[in-house]
Amino acid sequence: MFDYQLKLSKRRKTVAIKVTPEQVVVTAPENVCEVALENWLKSKKDWVHTQRQKLELAPNKQKPLQTRSLLVFGSVYKIEFSDINKPVIDHESRFIYLPEVLRQERLEFRRAIIKLLTDLLSSYLELCLEQLSKQMNCHVSAVKIREYKSRWGSCSSKQALTFNSLLAGAPEHIIDYVIVHELAHCHVLAHNTLFWQLVEKHYEDYKSARLWFNKNGKALMIE
Ligand SMILES: [Zn+2]
Repeated sequence: MFDYQLKLSKRRKTVAIKVTPEQVVVTAPENVCEVALENWLKSKKDWVHTQRQKLELAPNKQKPLQTRSLLVFGSVYKIEFSDINKPVIDHESRFIYLPEVLRQERLEFRRAIIKLLTDLLSSYLELCLEQLSKQMNCHVSAVKIREYKSRWGSCSSKQALTFNSLLAGAPEHIIDYVIVHELAHCHVLAHNTLFWQLVEKHYEDYKSARLWFNKNGKALMIE
């Protein structure tokens, strides 16, 4: 059997199991028969085990201060502190050098990392956005980059685009998908058939890109 925390509830009519990385929580009706509950939970042992394994395997948010590493365009870059004033990034050896003072300043460190990713994404967008917006016949009014918690990009009705800084951790072809997605919103705001047809016209394998985010999106986040 597995360890679990039992929560009895007056309102509940059925038993439910919730598996989190920290614990298993079982919610049951207040008048539940304990023997029946134990037996039922025993029958769910394998399922709980599988859920736990999935959670362990699922990539978690990045912890760059702890791991001294950061995803940049789909590759792992090492972080080193150095006697410098401004962050320096070496793409050839995949190293990021940060000022020594940031080692002890968690918030400042995080801010520096986000700034770095923002600048990287900004340069990348400069390279690709113009060509893609021409190709898709869009008249983008403004481009912004900021950290979002739960979206990769957005497009306003005035065709102002915003991209999530954390995208700079994704491979370039995945960033391209987000660009095409947001540009397609310049023509169609809803996620309807017409919208996906337009996306597909300019980014054939959009389904794989969407799957990529389902699988790896969380790993781009930074704690
Ligand atoms: Zn959308």
